[in-house]
Amino acid sequence: LLQIKNLKKDFGDQQILKGIDETVNAGQVICIIGPSGSGKSTLLRCLNHLEQPTSGSVLVDGKALHDFTNKELASLGERIGMVFQDFNLFPNLTVIENVKLAPKRVKGMSDQAAEAVGMKLLAQVGLAEKAAVYPASLSGGQAQRVAMARALAMHPEVMLFDEPTSALDPEMVGEVLHVMQGLAETGMTMVVVTHEMGFARKVADEVWFMADGQLQEKAAPETLFSAPATDRAREFIDKII
Ligand code: ATP
Ligand code: MG
Repeated sequence: LLQIKNLKKDFGDQQILKGIDETVNAGQVICIIGPSGSGKSTLLRCLNHLEQPTSGSVLVDGKALHDFTNKELASLGERIGMVFQDFNLFPNLTVIENVKLAPKRVKGMSDQAAEAVGMKLLAQVGLAEKAAVYPASLSGGQAQRVAMARALAMHPEVMLFDEPTSALDPEMVGEVLHVMQGLAETGMTMVVVTHEMGFARKVADEVWFMADGQLQEKAAPETLFSAPATDRAREFIDKII
């Protein structure tokens, strides 16, 4: 579904991604771990064209993003959903309006159809009763679940998550991970930057360890967490356990 080919990204004279080669297959759940500044968010942002690579390419269903027409790029947001650390909800719209906005604007869905889809998704994330409230009155965990419903409203083929629980109070982490696990069980393809090892163990097919702009190691979660192949990964895992 996603192919990453010799992907490099510089910011100024800093090499941030130094040549990543990987594949994300349909239905896979990938967790990415690694130290701060190793390029995890940059990699994720290259996957949905929020950043453009300095060289190399990202292919979606076999076609390189740099060969996408403007129209295809415009609809990339429908195919690849993204959830950020800090939710990014529109504060001046109610919960259901947040979820309905893109299906109506981008897909031209009727208000009624978007409402139906939106309410179904809010139920899926356990927040149907919050449809009419504004984001300011939500807890962090609830806001993040709304952000997930909003991304899912576009029926994406892949969902990218960038540290979706790291801004949350500890007691709210579980509810968000629970919804993500449910989503994984529906067969959704997911790429998740997270240091929640319990989640990775339960849900991930593969864990990628990044450091210094490179993918140092990838393995099944059990293998990577209990028997990492490199000292670099071992040191990091010892720190986050
Ligand atoms: P963290 O765990 O802290 O989120 P990360 O692995 O996600 O880290 P990135 O956000 O990808 O790391 O950043 C990698 C490096 O690239 C950092 O040194 C950062 O300062 C730099 N960087 C990221 N975005 C930009 C930008 N738009 N302009 C300049 N430098 C950037
Ligand atoms: Mg980051």
